[in-house]
Amino acid sequence: MKTLRLREGKERSLLRRHPWIFESAIAKGGADAGETVRVESHAGEFLAWAAFSPESMIRARAWSFDESQRIDHALFAAKVAQSVQARSRFDLQSDGLRLVHGESDGLPGLVVDRYGDTLVAQFLSSGAERWKDVLADALLQSTGLTRLYERSDTSARKLEGLLPATGWLRGSGPTELTLREHDWQLGLDIATGHKTGFYLDQRDSRKQFAQATRRLGFERVLNCFCYTGGFTVAALHGGARHVTSIDSSAPALERAQANVALNGFAPERADFLDADVNASLRQFIEQGRTFDAIVLDPPKFAPTAAHADRAARAYKDINRLAFKLLEPGGVLFTFSCSGGISADLFHKIVASAGIDAGVDGYISQRLGGAPDHPMTINFPEGEYLKGLVVMRK
Ligand code: SAH
Repeated sequence: MKTLRLREGKERSLLRRHPWIFESAIAKGGADAGETVRVESHAGEFLAWAAFSPESMIRARAWSFDESQRIDHALFAAKVAQSVQARSRFDLQSDGLRLVHGESDGLPGLVVDRYGDTLVAQFLSSGAERWKDVLADALLQSTGLTRLYERSDTSARKLEGLLPATGWLRGSGPTELTLREHDWQLGLDIATGHKTGFYLDQRDSRKQFAQATRRLGFERVLNCFCYTGGFTVAALHGGARHVTSIDSSAPALERAQANVALNGFAPERADFLDADVNASLRQFIEQGRTFDAIVLDPPKFAPTAAHADRAARAYKDINRLAFKLLEPGGVLFTFSCSGGISADLFHKIVASAGIDAGVDGYISQRLGGAPDHPMTINFPEGEYLKGLVVMRK
């Protein structure tokens, strides 16, 4: 068994059961990609069993903090079964759900989404890559399903020195699927869509948006960064008369349009703009257009805290423009999925955007990722998605 010896004082985060071991914390030792290593403090005490990542800044990720634990098939089968089991305790009202959420489920580098009878997995660390076959079998075993598609084509894999890998890992079939979410349906393509095909993490916020639209009788809705139209369909379900949706991805917009039809809504009730959100918002202000409800769900402007300053300006800008377009009594659902922007900072950004727009509002709700994308006590980085519902005075 190979060993990693940490520098003095660098054992603290592992003692708190945080699973990452940074390159800078290691005094000596190494192994092959994905190989299990014994991690020891500078004094030689056992800290964790971890998977080694020779090319990543996060040089190893812990599988277990128990010295007597063997890192083997049985452990991965148990971890996968536990993650799957945990989801049955959430009330998700959807047949699309995240079954494994990486570090939060004790499986660093593994993300698995379920869309109906199809699983889609991302193996994003050397350790997950090394155990891919074992994890794939465990996933089928614990769900009773037969189809697993791989979407290991994210930038995180590059940081690990791993090449992209996509395609059916187990079984085969169509990659275009239809998902039932709350009271509506959404089509997606697991081979070409973003992430594993869809943004399941916004499931509950889409429902909140549908409910707010209905309760407050909103008629004109603006959905910015609409992707495949999840919030658009939610608004129409909530009774909105008309929804304008903006995205810069033509394939996403095509599918958004198809999703409006799939749910039986007349095409006149939804406009789709293939455009930059910031430019469109400015244009709407010039045209004197206003909306009763606005969604702002931009991509990750700040992947890490190092990007926070620039990202903060970008968030503030779009929020300021959105406030200007919002009718009095209207509602803004605004989000950040940047790990580098804390909930507290996001609140401050939105507040200062309101001040600059000359608008005051009631912050009626704080939103986060759906419960199948859990954060855990030991892994605060799991909190990435945060949202605010602001009701204009
Ligand atoms: N709200 C969506 C998810 C949004 S993901 C849902 O519920 O499914 C972010 C989206 O922003 C992506 O679809 C991406 O294509 C789009 N995007 C990124 N930069 C953009 C820009 N500058 N203008 C318009 N859309 C943009």
